[in-house]
Amino acid sequence: MNRNDSEGTEQEHAHADAHDHHGSALSEMDLRVRALESLLIEKGYVDPRALDILIETYEHKVGPHNGARVVAKAWCDPAYRQWLLDDATAAIASLGHTGRQGEHMVVLENTPAVHNMVVCTLCSCYPWPVLGLPPIWYKSAPYRSRAVIDPRGVLKEFGFELAAEVEFRVWDSTAEVRYLVLPMQPSGTSGFSEEALAELVTRDSMIGTGLPRTPESKREPA
Ligand code: FE
Repeated sequence: MNRNDSEGTEQEHAHADAHDHHGSALSEMDLRVRALESLLIEKGYVDPRALDILIETYEHKVGPHNGARVVAKAWCDPAYRQWLLDDATAAIASLGHTGRQGEHMVVLENTPAVHNMVVCTLCSCYPWPVLGLPPIWYKSAPYRSRAVIDPRGVLKEFGFELAAEVEFRVWDSTAEVRYLVLPMQPSGTSGFSEEALAELVTRDSMIGTGLPRTPESKREPA
């Protein structure tokens, strides 16, 4: 987004203003993080170069695009799909996605009869190597409690309704296990390349709070 006030349309200015509650380009959280970072560096507790590598890694290298490739490969390759269901950690590692919060992976397959959704009711456990860092709503108290109490209601808020006959399984991440949902392949996509399929796989479809895009919905403006 263009933050330079000398450019951009009036509408863009209004939009930017609405988000700068403190008259600064930095949010209160950004300021707090910067203050904490400076303090830790000053005291010698962290190496700024190590921090930069971590941030660069999770902003650009690790993210839902990794999980999307895993899902797309499972859709194209039945042997890989079976490996994923039998030993997700190894099957995912074979594509190079390893690391913290990905040591014990379990893949949950959605079928016409079963829908899986993942939550961490205690905190925010999340499969970093395949999905990156968790979205804010995943860490929020309302999601963590309502995913268990009223999962169908949560799905409605995410924009889709599950047929009453579909069994709903909610999986609570433990201290060790991290889950990845294998969504159903959208209809009308057989014969698509792995790359084209990966573009249809959304982050939310791998948490179970959404569905993959269809070739039609992909063409619609976001
Ligand atoms: Fe957690």
